Amino acid sequence: MGKIYIQCQSCGMPLRDDKNWGWTEKDGNISKMYCSSCYENGEFKNPSMTLKEMQKQIDHILKHEMQWWKICRYVAVRQIPKLERWKEK
Ligand SMILES: [Zn+2]
Repeated sequence: MGKIYIQCQSCGMPLRDDKNWGWTEKDGNISKMYCSSCYENGEFKNPSMTLKEMQKQIDHILKHEMQWWKICRYVAVRQIPKLERWKEK
């Protein structure tokens, strides 16, 4: 790998804002792909979560915690399917 991501590849949040950015995977590698609210100790915190559920959760956070406008939320939520976690394999 070695690719540096600027946003969490699960939820789309900017990784530079994540205080726990850069943790250790089970194999000892540093992971910089997912934020600490999505991922911990080499595993997703909520592995059964669907893309739809993630989009709903992010829209909720952006609306209620960050007071984003609807159009901005729409753009943010629409990019989630393009992140590594949700890409068609
Ligand atoms: Zn995340």
